[in-house]
Amino acid sequence: MSDPRFSAKKAEHTQIPRPKRGEGQWALGYTEPLNKNEQSKKDDDPLHVRDRILHTYSKRGFASIDPADLRGRFRWMGLYTQRAPGFDGGKTAMLEEEELDDEYFMLRVRSDGRLLDASAVRALGEIGVEYARDTADVTDRENIQYHWIRIEDVPAIWDRLDAAGLDSTEACGDSPRPFLGSPVAGVAKDEIIDGSEALAEIKRRYIGDPAFSNLPRKFKTALTGHPSHDVSPETNDVAFVGTVHPVHGPGFDLWVGGGLSTNPMLAQKAGVWIPTDEVADVWAGVASIFRDYGYRRLRSRARLKFLVADWGIEKFREVLEKEYLGRELVSCESPASPVGHRDHVGVHEQQDGDFYVGVAPIAGRVSGTKLVALADLIEKHGAAGARLTPYQKIVLIGVAPDRLDALLADLDAIGLPARPSNWRQNTMACTGIEFCKLAIVETKARAADLVEELEQRFPELDVPITVNVNGCPNACARTQVADIGLKGQLVMHEGQQVGGFQVHLGGATGLEANFGRKLRAHKVTSEGLGEYVGVVVGNYLTGRTAGESFAA
Ligand code: SF4
Repeated sequence: MSDPRFSAKKAEHTQIPRPKRGEGQWALGYTEPLNKNEQSKKDDDPLHVRDRILHTYSKRGFASIDPADLRGRFRWMGLYTQRAPGFDGGKTAMLEEEELDDEYFMLRVRSDGRLLDASAVRALGEIGVEYARDTADVTDRENIQYHWIRIEDVPAIWDRLDAAGLDSTEACGDSPRPFLGSPVAGVAKDEIIDGSEALAEIKRRYIGDPAFSNLPRKFKTALTGHPSHDVSPETNDVAFVGTVHPVHGPGFDLWVGGGLSTNPMLAQKAGVWIPTDEVADVWAGVASIFRDYGYRRLRSRARLKFLVADWGIEKFREVLEKEYLGRELVSCESPASPVGHRDHVGVHEQQDGDFYVGVAPIAGRVSGTKLVALADLIEKHGAAGARLTPYQKIVLIGVAPDRLDALLADLDAIGLPARPSNWRQNTMACTGIEFCKLAIVETKARAADLVEELEQRFPELDVPITVNVNGCPNACARTQVADIGLKGQLVMHEGQQVGGFQVHLGGATGLEANFGRKLRAHKVTSEGLGEYVGVVVGNYLTGRTAGESFAA
C-alpha cells in the first residue's frame, strides 16, 4: 500500500469521486489485487528476488527457479528469460510466453545518464566478453543490454557492475525504469541547465526503494537541460525539461503522461518552474500519484498516460501540489519545442574548449569486444568518458582539440564512426525476434541490411530521414515518432502469413510532434522492406516541393 512519506494529506483522496467501475486505484480503496501481476507483487516485494538469485538460484541452477520469480520478479533485477532459438514469429504467434523461454537471460544495465569513465566502459565490455557471448547492445533507454546470461554467473556480473558503480536494479518490471539523461549534460555550450545532479539524486533516493517497487506498470523518466530536448521527453511518463523563468532563472518544467506502444500519447506540460534541488521531491510526488491513483485493473490501461488523459494536466498538478508536495509550484511558460534532430552524432565544441564526439553503431549493436576497444580509446586519448543516448548512440565527452583527428581515425577503425551516413545515423531497431519473446519479426539484422541498401541507393541526403524498426506493436524503438516507423506483424503474401511490418509515415517529436500516419494499405514483408523504403524515399525526393520535410 502507499507510503506515508509521500501521501501526507491522504484524507483529501476522498475529494475525488469514486468511479462507477473500479480501475484498481489504491487511493480510492481498490486494494485487492485484480489480476495476476498485481497478486504477484502483493505476494512478495519483487525487490526481494535479489537475495534469492544471489543465495539460491545462482547456486542451484535454472531448474530451481520459482516460476513466479522467473517470469515476474526477475524483471526488477533487469533479467528476462530470452527467446529460445528456433521459433519464428509465424509459428509462435499462438504460443504462451513461457513456451518460448530459454534457460538464458537478457540482462539490462542502467546508465541513467551517467558519464561512464574508461574503467566503467571496460567493465561493461568485459562482462559482454566473459559472460554474454560477446553481446552488448546500446538501447534507446541508455542501457547496455546483454544476452546469453546464465543464472550461475549473475552474482559475479553484479559484483563487476558494482565495482564500476553500475547496477541493473529496476531495469525492468513495474518500477522506475532506467532514466534518460542528456548525453551532453554539463558540457554543451548551449545548455540551459545541467540536470545531472538532479537525476543522480532521484536515483540515490528512490531506486531500490520499496516505496516505488510496486507501481501499476513501468514508469519512464527523462530529464534534460539541453534546448534540443535530447531525451524524447514527449514519450516518457515523467520528464523534466530545462526552462528559464524570467525572475528565478534556469530550472525545469514538468511534463507527464507520455508513452507510445498501443494508444500512443504525448506528454502534457505542467507549465511550472522547478529548481534543481527540488526535482527529486517532485519526481517522488509524480511517482506516488501513479502508485496511488494509477489504474491497476487492466494491464492495458495501467500506464500513467491514461490517468493524465482522464484527469487533464490542471487536475494532475493540483493533486500533486495539494496531496503530495503540500505547496504550490511556481508557474512558468513551458519551453519552446525545438525543431530537428537531437542525437549529438558528430564533433561539437564544449563549454570548456574541449569537444564531444557522438558515434553511431548500427541500430545500437555493439559488442563486449567493441566496448573494451572503446575503453582503450578513451584512455589513449585522455577523454573524460562516454554517455549513452536515447537514439542508440554513444557520445565521448572531454576530447582535447589536439586529440580529435587521431581519435576520429581510431573510432572509424573500430567501427564507431562519428561521421556516419544518414541511414546509419538515423535508423534504430528494438531487440526483435533474435532474443525477445514478444517479437514477431527480426529487427537488428534487418535494420543493418536496410542501412546498407539505402546507403547504396541514396548515399547523399540533404535532409535527415529517420527509420525505426520494431519487432511487434510494443514500440520499444518508438515506431510512431519516426519518419518511417515500422511495426512488426504478420502480413499476407501470396496467400501465406509471413513476417513483415505495418508502416507509419511522417511521425516526429519536438515542434512538429505528431504520430506517424498508419497507412492501412501499407504493409510490407520483411523480405521486401528494402525495396519498399527505397520507393518511399525516392518518391519523396523526386516529388517534394522546396523545403518540404519528409513528415509533411
Ligand atoms: Fe520486443 Fe516488441 Fe519491444 Fe521489439 S517492440 S523489443 S519485439 S517487445
